[in-house]
Amino acid sequence: MLEEKILSKYGGSSITNLSDVEQISKITEDDNRRSYIVVSAPGKRFDGDTKVTQLLVQLAGFRSNDRPSRCIIDEIVSRFEHVYSKNCSSEVGDRLIERFNQNLSPEPYMASLKAFGEEMNARLLAKELNAKFIDPKEFLLVTNDYANAKILTDSYKQIAKLKQTDINCIIPGFYGYTKNEEIATFSFGGSDLTGSIFAKGLNVTTYENFTDCTIYAADPRIVNEPKKVEEITYKELRDLSYS
Ligand code: ASP
Repeated sequence: MLEEKILSKYGGSSITNLSDVEQISKITEDDNRRSYIVVSAPGKRFDGDTKVTQLLVQLAGFRSNDRPSRCIIDEIVSRFEHVYSKNCSSEVGDRLIERFNQNLSPEPYMASLKAFGEEMNARLLAKELNAKFIDPKEFLLVTNDYANAKILTDSYKQIAKLKQTDINCIIPGFYGYTKNEEIATFSFGGSDLTGSIFAKGLNVTTYENFTDCTIYAADPRIVNEPKKVEEITYKELRDLSYS
């Protein structure tokens, strides 16, 4: 019989603080078919906040300018501390500085910095959930359009090999590797694409795409300050979205 598996993808706004990690852990444990998780980089915590990917783009722009780059590096480290506590500070800082100092031509350099948020998030989440970090280098081969990569079909054969893994897998979204082993990213928002690529390659029963939003009892553009709905069933939510 075909073993049922679920791939769950969590967007950046679903991983911004410690309780989000607990929530992901709980959701994963709730259903033992949830074996694969794809994550974005930590996103905005509130309106007007800057997502980690944007901070990384800014950092890449300060390549040879020491002072502003130090501030952004600190800011990025603190964003990860927000999610994984201060225990992660030195690992995030060391890896980020190493990446910042890489000697690459401009396009692969930018891609490699942009991908850092997803990579670090997946590494740290894997530790938290006692799961395995999946390095896209072995599984996701892409064209060398560094900011708008396309998947190479060989990837699917590689991804299928992950079916044999008997521990939950955490996969960073948004990037793959070119044939020259350089990082190339999909276009912005591309972690959803990673999710669907792995869902296809792993032939999962369900691809769940979690996002974080507030549900109101009425459309806030029409009704002033409607009540928040704290709990809702899948069926109710489905009916609500149809209407
Ligand atoms: N972190 C990337 C972005 O901000 C990819 C994603 O979130 O899907 O676009």
